[in-house]
Amino acid sequence: MPWRLKNREGADLMPLPDHHFLCARQPGFAAWWQGFLKDILDRYPDLDGMDFAEPAAVWKGKLACQCDICRKEIGAGLLRAMLRQLGLTPRDLE
Ligand SMILES: [Zn+2]
Repeated sequence: MPWRLKNREGADLMPLPDHHFLCARQPGFAAWWQGFLKDILDRYPDLDGMDFAEPAAVWKGKLACQCDICRKEIGAGLLRAMLRQLGLTPRDLE
C-alpha cells in the first residue's frame, strides 16, 4: 500500500504494533481524504463542525515517514533552514 508511512528501506513504518498509518503527503491519500470529507458534508449539511485531531508527522522523536515524497520535501525544508541560518535564500544558489 503506497499510502502507508514508510521507513528508510521502503517497508511500512509502524510506530505502534498492528497499526498502519497513512502519509498525508501522498496525493492519493489526500484525494481520498477530500472525498471522504465531501461525503460527510453532503450527508450532514447541517453539521456545525468537525474535530480533525492532530495528525502526526513525526513519531517518538525522530521517527518519521521516509517515503519518496517526504524525503524530498523534508530535505528541501532542511536546505531552506540551513540557507536561512546563513542569511541566504534558494535564489542565491541560482
Ligand atoms: Zn511520506
